[in-house]
Amino acid sequence: MNPKLSDRVNNMATSATLAMAAKARELRESGKDIIGLSLGEPDFTVPEFVKEAAIQAVKDDYHAYTPVDGYGDLKQAIIKKFKRDNNLTYTPNQIVVSTGAKQSLANLAMVLLNEGDEVLLPAPYWVSYSDITKVAGGVPVEIKTTIENDFKVTPEDLEAAITPKTKMIIYSSPCNPSGSVYSEKELRALADVLVKYPDIIVVSDEIYEHINFTGDHASMAQFEDMYDRTVTVNGVSKAYAMTGWRIGYIGGPEYIARACNKMQGQNTSGANCIAQRATITALEESPKRIEYMVQAFKERRKLILDLLSEIPGMQTNEPEGAFYVFPNVSAFFGKDFGGKTIQTASDFSLYLLEAANVATVTGEAFGNPECIRISYAASEKDIVEAMKRIKKALS
Ligand code: PMP
Ligand code: GLU
Repeated sequence: MNPKLSDRVNNMATSATLAMAAKARELRESGKDIIGLSLGEPDFTVPEFVKEAAIQAVKDDYHAYTPVDGYGDLKQAIIKKFKRDNNLTYTPNQIVVSTGAKQSLANLAMVLLNEGDEVLLPAPYWVSYSDITKVAGGVPVEIKTTIENDFKVTPEDLEAAITPKTKMIIYSSPCNPSGSVYSEKELRALADVLVKYPDIIVVSDEIYEHINFTGDHASMAQFEDMYDRTVTVNGVSKAYAMTGWRIGYIGGPEYIARACNKMQGQNTSGANCIAQRATITALEESPKRIEYMVQAFKERRKLILDLLSEIPGMQTNEPEGAFYVFPNVSAFFGKDFGGKTIQTASDFSLYLLEAANVATVTGEAFGNPECIRISYAASEKDIVEAMKRIKKALS
């Protein structure tokens, strides 16, 4: 805390995913053999056809500021993608391209929340939802879920959390960190509750859409009675391994999209022009071209679940999408390891870093203090070695 800084930033938590990744990087630079399973970042490189589109954009002299909400032809590519993959119909004024889905989410919080507005976060939720909410003056309201229910919120628990101050709900499906995927039927049951509260805006974060092993992706906006108050968030970071290219986008009600456009007109002037050109190519091509990555994640999921099942005390459900497992590690609480008592998931995650040289993230950052998140967006070799080390450190 530095009193010279604003209360806003002093009261803000550092992103736990990025902090752990930085710590792992630091330890690696000091000579330690750290295996990083903390960051949700595909270990693949960007597909050749996307790289070529970016190179071509440089050669074609794209250099100037783009329209604040994204190039017109990129918006058209996004509109086609929403129709092709999600059967959602949007017009250009309903689309905003941003510097990553993270900025799309931050825009939404800034344009929708007033001081004290409550934001429902089915927990575990993605780490940044709560601080993005707080910075915008909102109040995060966690809704607990259980591993037995695959960490999915039930309609009853959703309804019980709604108050007159509820403004918004944010969730991801496939979910970071639990890997859970809401089926169309499950989303419909949640929608049946939400239709009774027409002022609540739904933010549906679908950035892991393609990394879904059930074969079915459902969107809240596909329900006619939810379309007018649902914002669908997506991006190219995960499916196209373009994390550093920083392109995310939304489709949603026009008044919200125009407000996001106004907000980022003052904050960033819009996303990077070369990355936007490359994203047109990424989205226009068939998702079949990235299936090899999805297939690899599916194989790694099996590998890591098999290896985790050999470690007594790690309770895991079967994630259906994204590239994370979220084991409950509370069986280790109160136990001594090398003279230190593990009291919390943070202690546990730190112990794994020190004793096994494996970086994970504490579930506390995701609103579940009994779990840790392990990313399997890593090579099979690293996954096998990491699980071997963890098993040894816990034996
Ligand atoms: N939503 C979820 C659920 C995520 O895991 C991430 C992590 N990258 C983001 C949004 C933000 O993605 P980006 O800003 O890289 O598009
Ligand atoms: N979303 C990724 C994760 O959860 C990347 C880190 C971040 O954006 O916070 O690990």
